[in-house]
Amino acid sequence: MPQTDLTWNTALLYPAPDSPELEADLGSFEQLAANFRAAYFEKAATLDSKGLLKAIRDYEALQTRMAKPFCYAHLLFASDSGNETYRALSMRCSELGNRLSQQLLFFDIELMELDDNKIADFRALPEAATYLHFLEGIRKFRPHTLKENEERLLTRKELTGVRAFTKLFDELSASFTYQMELDGEMKEFTGEELLSMLHHTSADVRFRALTTFLERHGEHGIVFNAVFNNVALDHGQEMELRNYSSPIQPTNIGNEIPDEAVEHLMSVTEANYGLAQEYFRIKAGMLKMDKLRNCDLYAPVAEVERAYSFDEARELVVDSYRDYSPEFGDIVEAFFTERRVDVLPRTGKSGGAFAMGISPVLPPFLLLNYTGTLRDLATIAHEAGHGLHFVISQTQSTLNYHAPLPLAETASVFGEMLLTRRLLDNEQDPQVRRSLLCAKIEDIIATTFRQTVLTRFELRLHNERANGLLSNDRIAEIWLEENGKLFGDSVEMIPAYRWGWSYIGHFIHSRFYCYSYTFAELLVLALFRKYREDGDAFKPGYRALLESGGALSPADTARLAGIDITDSGFWQKGYDVLAELIEELKLIA
Ligand SMILES: [Zn+2]
Repeated sequence: MPQTDLTWNTALLYPAPDSPELEADLGSFEQLAANFRAAYFEKAATLDSKGLLKAIRDYEALQTRMAKPFCYAHLLFASDSGNETYRALSMRCSELGNRLSQQLLFFDIELMELDDNKIADFRALPEAATYLHFLEGIRKFRPHTLKENEERLLTRKELTGVRAFTKLFDELSASFTYQMELDGEMKEFTGEELLSMLHHTSADVRFRALTTFLERHGEHGIVFNAVFNNVALDHGQEMELRNYSSPIQPTNIGNEIPDEAVEHLMSVTEANYGLAQEYFRIKAGMLKMDKLRNCDLYAPVAEVERAYSFDEARELVVDSYRDYSPEFGDIVEAFFTERRVDVLPRTGKSGGAFAMGISPVLPPFLLLNYTGTLRDLATIAHEAGHGLHFVISQTQSTLNYHAPLPLAETASVFGEMLLTRRLLDNEQDPQVRRSLLCAKIEDIIATTFRQTVLTRFELRLHNERANGLLSNDRIAEIWLEENGKLFGDSVEMIPAYRWGWSYIGHFIHSRFYCYSYTFAELLVLALFRKYREDGDAFKPGYRALLESGGALSPADTARLAGIDITDSGFWQKGYDVLAELIEELKLIA
């Protein structure tokens, strides 16, 4: 049945932005937060286990109530940021949210400061089991937290310290415009536009686009050098102050992934670089080139791209999920039949795509900007996967509802795999199949191998900075060495690539973020492989993994699906899926 209205039915949450229901909710929160504060401020240490449990439950109930109007405001604003009513509501909610978190912040701090005996008593209480992971999440940085006045000082000095360099990086990068000749005419482009030309059919355009982009960064090499050196120095000093043993440790603690598991993940990835090299050689052949240059990695392999109508796309996605499990199919279909998807691009609507899980008692929503490309089709499967995850984990309570970060992309990427498999199995046209396979393989290479290259580079940058200032020549050397390990002799790096490190915001904004992409992608590939091996026997474990939401650590959550993330054999399974896809491509390349 085709869906006629392609916008959200936000009345599932509130009748209208000026409804008394919404006003009543928004009007009640400050009093509720004040009541909570009056009941518990400076009390956590004096409460017995039962009292602590009640405090956490009261806190959770407040969070559940607040999620509804705040998410409603966010949905409206995302659907039309030009609408004055929506803007005002969104502004009001963010200011209110800010005041409420200031009111409630004390509770997290007091929970973090509870002494271990108190926590041990709490653990012994059977009903407390639900909240143990939540508590661990709050307390995991405890050994690395300084005294309150020291923390305040650090935060205060950050503004003119490391955050000033971050801001400089953002502002400088955003100020760049680029001149390049295209179709016989000199034109001005943004960085985004140049990078999207890496998908251009002309090898010359691809080369000039990447060169122009990187050389522009090179012109400001002095600034990038200062930013990278200072960010690394600042991180090194903080590590020392907070007693961390390696630059990557704070990220691993945040992700709750043991250091050894991260190291396994990366070394198994490096051991499989040969797979990427094999693919690059096949692709060179398809493009009739002797050897790819790194500006050719995303060159298109087909002359025309197939387009999909939205109805066709929706059916393909629902059917891929239904083939896997009728329950999953029903859950995904309900997003469309209950109008919990906003489908088409329009002026004022937010770009990209997202899935919003509100709370265990309310239905999640999806935002798309569907234009009919294969990429857009995959995006529906991706966001529907997030949506599915949000529905299945609704058996959890609010504090355990959202999956831990390293697992947040599991259902989405798994859903994309289900779709790719279905498309490949039903597609007859070898041109289309070739494009499908290349798109998936390139996606996997970008989210696993490349992210490991980035992480290794970042580690070396931090370790070497500890011994003194790094010149741009030295940074380029490390950069090209780590990339060279991935490319081997299968890809030639263009000269301007010596500046390839200088534009990557993750290095500046969130240290060692990149490996979480590798983690998520590989976890899904390994799950998918297990599914292909075990068939129906795989399904209950995977469902349990999704249902667990954020109730457990990533390692314990993965264990529900029979997976040990500290076992390198497990990571290898992920690369076996990639190897199979490459074999499949060879048959038609
Ligand atoms: Zn996602």
